[in-house]
Amino acid sequence: MIFNSVLIIDDDPTQVAIMQAYFESLKVTDIKGTINPSEALNYINNKKNEIDLIVSDLQMPEMDGLEFLRHLNSMKYTGKLAIISGVKSDFLDHASRLAKMHRLNIIGHVPKPVTKSSLDNVFLKEIKDNRFPLKTDQYFITQNDFSRAMEHNEIEPYFQPKVDVKTGRIIGAEALVRWNKPGMGFISPEVLINFAEKNGRIEELTFYLFNKTLKSSQEFLAFDPKQVFATNLSPNMARNLSLPDQLLNRIKAYGLNPTSFSFEVTENNVLNLDTTTLEVLSRLRILEFDVAIDDFGTGSSNIQTLRDFPYSELKIDQAFVSNAVTDVFSRETVRAAVSLSHDRGMKIVAEGIEDIETFAFIRDQGIEFAQGYLFSKALNHDDYLAFIKTYAAGFDIEDMIANVAA
Ligand code: C2E
Ligand code: CA
Ligand code: CA
Repeated sequence: MIFNSVLIIDDDPTQVAIMQAYFESLKVTDIKGTINPSEALNYINNKKNEIDLIVSDLQMPEMDGLEFLRHLNSMKYTGKLAIISGVKSDFLDHASRLAKMHRLNIIGHVPKPVTKSSLDNVFLKEIKDNRFPLKTDQYFITQNDFSRAMEHNEIEPYFQPKVDVKTGRIIGAEALVRWNKPGMGFISPEVLINFAEKNGRIEELTFYLFNKTLKSSQEFLAFDPKQVFATNLSPNMARNLSLPDQLLNRIKAYGLNPTSFSFEVTENNVLNLDTTTLEVLSRLRILEFDVAIDDFGTGSSNIQTLRDFPYSELKIDQAFVSNAVTDVFSRETVRAAVSLSHDRGMKIVAEGIEDIETFAFIRDQGIEFAQGYLFSKALNHDDYLAFIKTYAAGFDIEDMIANVAA
């Protein structure tokens, strides 16, 4: 359970009672409910490191919501926050201000009056998405399971936004596989991909996901035609000479443009030597797709890889990014990757950006794009669409950075 301790604040005692009962049903052990914002602040001040989640109304007679948030910020509350609000436009208004109070980890909003299904929408998703409880040794996938999961649309792409470091605008998303298995929760993507690769089903899975990504992107692109959607390709697939044309044909079948799509390929040892892979990647580039080298820094990546392969983008692995502020080795790896790829005219994506300090660091390095929980986790179709609408004007980068310095 990712929420052990929950605090609920609402001036309406009925709403508090409903939510208390709800979290009890989720087996949360420590639940505190109050109708009094000052009491809530005292409680937070005493227990701030233990509270996992605060669910709060922002419109209370005794304290203005933004004042409450400022207090949370200054008390350095690091847990999650969900907002209860009366009308949707209120939330959007709050959300844009909240974006600036970046230290707060907002996971969603619950419209009033509170119902079980609206609570499930925010919290069940959160609980499931934050842990992939089933590892290979605990769960055995069968070929039938896997086929049925695709037939029943249990497997889907989720979209994690990528943000332009300079402008704060959302430039598109990476599609990441999610398998929500009824009664079992989310299966770890690594387990799933591993299964598909070992059992000769990775192409089938990739095209299944790519079709869904194309379908979703029609709606995303209708809202913002400039966005680009990235799909992960297993290195083994990059040895199939017909792959580029197959991908292009799918895109055309949906009436879409190749410039709206890109591909990420993990580097590995084989990649260094394989001329077939080189041909496939070159062909993708000729068809005007961006091709990124994924997880840079973790494998055998070296100058050689960068020189021989026609990548247009480099993704620095989150292991280096997340430690860059505190660890000299990671920091130097990031710096080296930056100068290497910039020399070659490649753009860089830093993945795993979880906090504003790390974001400030990569910005200072001249890295173009950022991806990570600071902005958002991977979202399903509806949530991604809502997200790009909420942040249509982009994140206010200057303000975010200024808040850290202050
Ligand atoms: P990846 O391509 O490096 O994807 C990034 C992983 O980092 C994702 O994990 C994402 O949820 C996670 N992540 C994003 N932001 C943050 C952050 O701020 N902090 C932390 N701690 N993690 C963050 P996920 O979804 O579990 O995927 C794991 C790996 O599985 C992916 O790594 C990729 O190699 C593979 N994978 C996922 N989907 C697909 C797919 O459709 N096809 C293929 N071939 N591989 C996939
Ligand atoms: Ca990737
Ligand atoms: Ca990666």
